[in-house]
Amino acid sequence: MSQSISNQYLNELGEQFGTPLYIYHGEKIREQWLKLKQAFSGNNTVFFYACKALTNINILKYIRSLGANIDCSSIYEGRLALHAGFAPNQILYTSNGISFSEIEEAKNLGLIINIDSLSNLKKFGQKFGSSYPVGVRLRPNIMAGGNLKISTGHDKSKFGIPVTQIDQVLEIVRQYGLLVHDLHIHTGSEIKDAHIFVKGIEVLFDIVPQFNDLKFIDLGGGFKVSYKQGDIETDISLLASEVGKAFASHPNPGGRPLQVWFEPGKFLVSESGYFLTTVNVVKETPGACFVSVDSGFNHLIRPMFYDAYHHIDNISNPEGPFRKYTVVGNICETDTFAWDREINEVREEDHLVFRNAGAYGFEMSSNFNSRLRPAEVLVLDGRPQLIRKRETFQDLLRNQLEVL
Ligand SMILES: *Cc1c(COP(=O)(O)O)cnc(C)c1O
Repeated sequence: MSQSISNQYLNELGEQFGTPLYIYHGEKIREQWLKLKQAFSGNNTVFFYACKALTNINILKYIRSLGANIDCSSIYEGRLALHAGFAPNQILYTSNGISFSEIEEAKNLGLIINIDSLSNLKKFGQKFGSSYPVGVRLRPNIMAGGNLKISTGHDKSKFGIPVTQIDQVLEIVRQYGLLVHDLHIHTGSEIKDAHIFVKGIEVLFDIVPQFNDLKFIDLGGGFKVSYKQGDIETDISLLASEVGKAFASHPNPGGRPLQVWFEPGKFLVSESGYFLTTVNVVKETPGACFVSVDSGFNHLIRPMFYDAYHHIDNISNPEGPFRKYTVVGNICETDTFAWDREINEVREEDHLVFRNAGAYGFEMSSNFNSRLRPAEVLVLDGRPQLIRKRETFQDLLRNQLEVL
């Protein structure tokens, strides 16, 4: 049975820690991890947790304890990963549009580096030549992903070096004797169809023969999870067998077997997360019945930013009759979480829980409207522990210099 936290327990956590509150369920992360490990057990595959989904240091430590490596999108994520105990050679820094000095810093820390522009690749060659292996992030010109904002592999996307410029990549590699040990693509988030990954493999294997030092093929992340009933999620077993077949039919021309890398973010942590809020106001109007909770897009931006669906339950009145509500926040900006959503009858001070809040939830939160960011709790072995304090008024002033 799938791991989850009961409504009653969520209510208790709300009483104990207050709201708004992010709650993560360790065993659910482990369940997702085991799904990946089991599906790919026959393949030579390594998983790097794409930590931009959720970087609480305890989550990083927990995911490390499961046996994952880690993928970072900034030097600070790399440093958090080191702090969490990952060895430098378990840390992949997949850069995009960063300064060369940050690439140098990653190199000095001993991280694995994927470079995503011709200019940085050239600078890397000039400075380090063949002394340090490097990966190349390519843009496969494949349209995939839940929506345009989370699609990264298409031909108008800023991410990676277009495969159509491969001759320029090869020229730089030749000129400086670069040791290219991996080729990387990440086509987007919420990719339902396992065959998209196979398409990516096809694109990569067209150019693989031109790289003599390859050891790894990095297919990025983007596995989809289910946000509502009936949602399709990426079929991980199918993906594993398709990837296995694709690699079997494209042996590395160099003879050495290539290892496959994946960078799952959302898949590991999304469903482990619950965002718990309290209803401030129920406002009946002729157009809609608005429910305002003690939060807004300053805490959970996905509905406004991506039109993302988060399932909402009234855990204080689970037997109440269903009614239609427009669930909104308390900030001075339109911050709708859900339009015309059927929810058990809502009363002021009820707890509403947003499901699938583990990925890109707290991580994308802000202090907009000078409101405080939520606390975070990790539930592991049946024990809840506070893993981030709720902010205080002092936090709003902490880095400000009062010169007047
Ligand atoms: C964001 C990102 C991921 C993870 O994407 P998910 O949709 O969360 O799985 C993987 N790789 C790279 C390079 C990313 O930027």
